[in-house]
Order: sequence, then structure tokens, then C-alpha cells
Amino acid sequence: MNGLAEAVGSFALTRWVSRKSRAEFERWQAAALRRFIDRDLPSAAFYGKAPASLADLPITDKALLMSRFEDFNIHGLTAGEGWAALARDGRVGPLTVGASTGTSGNRGLFVISEAEKYRWLGTILAKAAPDLLWRGMRVAVILPQNTGLYDSARKSRLVRLAFFDLTLGPERWRETLEAFEPTVIIAPPKILRHFAAERFRLQPGRVFSAAETLDPVDRPAIEAFFRRPLEQIYMATEGLFAVTCRRGGLHLAEDSVFFEFEPVGEGLVTPLVTAFRRQTQIMARYRMNDLLRLSEKPCRCGSPLRCVDEIVGRMDDVFRLASPNGCVLVTPDVLRNAALKADRRIDDFRLIQTAPDAIELRLAPDLADDAAANATQAVRALLEARTASATVALIRAPLPLETGRKLRRVECRLEHAS
Ligand SMILES: [Zn+2]
Repeated sequence: MNGLAEAVGSFALTRWVSRKSRAEFERWQAAALRRFIDRDLPSAAFYGKAPASLADLPITDKALLMSRFEDFNIHGLTAGEGWAALARDGRVGPLTVGASTGTSGNRGLFVISEAEKYRWLGTILAKAAPDLLWRGMRVAVILPQNTGLYDSARKSRLVRLAFFDLTLGPERWRETLEAFEPTVIIAPPKILRHFAAERFRLQPGRVFSAAETLDPVDRPAIEAFFRRPLEQIYMATEGLFAVTCRRGGLHLAEDSVFFEFEPVGEGLVTPLVTAFRRQTQIMARYRMNDLLRLSEKPCRCGSPLRCVDEIVGRMDDVFRLASPNGCVLVTPDVLRNAALKADRRIDDFRLIQTAPDAIELRLAPDLADDAAANATQAVRALLEARTASATVALIRAPLPLETGRKLRRVECRLEHAS
């Protein structure tokens, strides 16, 4: 099947699924998952045969995937071969190799087929902008271009796609982007906020935050600038996991991924994903690093797909602090709220755990001193309430736009022993 047909097929499936009842949807999903388990999963050497049920399979994660990379893809491609291909043009025969943007040594590798390359596009268009499609749309995708993943999907009549390499920095392509006059923009929130701050000349019909956690602090500035609601696409190296609907609900991509959830406390869960439409690199019960808060009630749009209230951040960025009662965990959303709610003048910050008992709070030099003092006090009060014993050092320094790494306002820089 060629790329466009694949995208259209994916579009049609996504639309079809969105009109089913939850019960009908679950029957369809169970059958699709079963087919994947019987037909696709055994092709990866790690599995070899089909289990009686999904729950019989071991939980997998990035460390396991990377240590036995060749056993998780059906072509037996090794991680060494994958990295070598990535250093060239990201191609191995008909396959495309990509990698996540993490710190070196912590990067994840993935390999997909030509057909799989197009599915994300059809899915995104169907979920995100079906009404725009028929009027002809120009989609600007602004992501780190370290993969060939998104190439060549750009040749279609109804959709014009343009890709802008985040790592080059916005100054390099500002004029080209403005001249393209995108009707849809997909970009990390820090870049959308940069467009607002620098008054880029853009008038899109839809604006999507993607590739990084959308921090609530960025939303008002972006929405005010574009004068429309900011929507979200939750995608990672591992695939496309959730997209906002027209009613603003952030729906899990349950039409291509089966989700299980592990509770981590405070109403948060971390997902195990089984990508049942992937056939090249098998991903089953794969533990994601993200912290989600699931919605209690279904979305008003009527879609049977479950909603997420918020993607809170990464499990790696939960602060682990010493206390008289043992180790205390503080999640990124709680830390973020403490800093932001301390003073209305604060609209950016960094909180970094640098040692088991030390935290840095970074605030811009032009923020008023009393606002900075309020934030420091609020973080200290939070830790005290949790009986965590840690110092909070206030550092006044610029918070520049970094295009080479993901923005994490709350970040744990400890080596994780576990
Ligand atoms: Zn919805």
C-alpha cells in the first residue's frame, strides 16, 4: 500500500471508531489486539509464540528494549546497525530508523516500515482537523528533525506539509514559515510561546502543542496570541498516544494502542502500552515514563475513547526526598503549582533536584525580589508539609529558549538507582 492510501485508511478507521459506543469499541479493540498477539507479536524473537493472553507477557521498558533491540523488531536489526543508519540518512532498506531526543546514553531507538510512517499522519488529520481537510490545509510541523519519520508524507493534494527543524532555531526558518501561511501548526509549547513573544506573523486555524509536556503556565500566552484554544497531541518516540478533540477532550489513541495503567499515588497513573497496529518493532506492555491523570467522565463529543485530564510530566522527574518517615515522592504537578501559585507575576521557573537533599529554584533576574521570595517560601512550605528534609536554593538566572533538548520545568537530575 502506498503512503497516501495508508494515511487515508488510517483516517477512515479513526473516524469510524469515533462513532461507536464504548461497548462496541471495546469489542472491536479486543479483536484487533487478539489479532496482533496471534499474528504480529510472535514474529519478534523476544516473544516467538503467542501467549494465552496479554497479561501473560512480561512488562517491558526502554532499558530492556535497548539491550535486546534485535529481538524486538521482526527484521533482527541490531541497535548498532540502527545507530549507524541514523548517523547516515536514517534508512535501512525500506525501513526508517529514528531516535528520541533524550540525553546521550538515554536515547531510545525505533524502527518503522514505510506503511507505518504514514499512519500517524492520517490519524492526526482525522482526529485533529477533519473539517479542515476538505478545504485544503497547510500543516507546519516543527519538531526536532533527527529522524526521517515525517519525510515524504508531504506529497498529497489535499494537504501540504512543511517541516521545520527545531534544532536549527526559529531564526533560521522564520521567513519560510511565515510565507507558508500554515492553517495548522504542530510544535512544542516552548516554541509556540516563542512565536507569541516574538510576534511571528501567523494566523493558523488550529494550533497543537506536541512533543513536550504542556505546562498550564504556557497556555494563556499562546491562546491569547493566536486567539484560539490550544490543542494537544501527545506523541513520543514510541508513537502517537493522545489527541485533543473539537470539544477540548484529550483522547487516548485507543484505536491503535491498548493501555494498561499502573497507579503511582495522588490519582496519577503511568501507562503500559501495547501498540497493536505496529508490525515492525513490537511494543507490548511497554512502560512509558509519563505521568497521567485520567478523566473520570466521558467527553461531550461522544467519542468512546478515554480521556486524560492532564499529562503531568515524567516519572523520572518525580522528586525523591529523604524524610524521617522514609523516602517521600513529590510529583511535578505539585511542585509546579507551588512555584506558580506563590505569586501571580511568576510565569516561568525551573525546579531542579540536584542531590537527595537539595533543590534549586531558578527564576529570571527581572522578576521582582518579593515574588521570588514568595516562590522560594512556597516550595519550602510544600516540602515541610511533606516532612521532606531538603534545602531550596534560589538562583536568579535567565531562562533561555533551548531548542536542543526538551523543556522540563521540574527536573530530577539524580541518577536513578532503581
Ligand atoms: Zn472529545
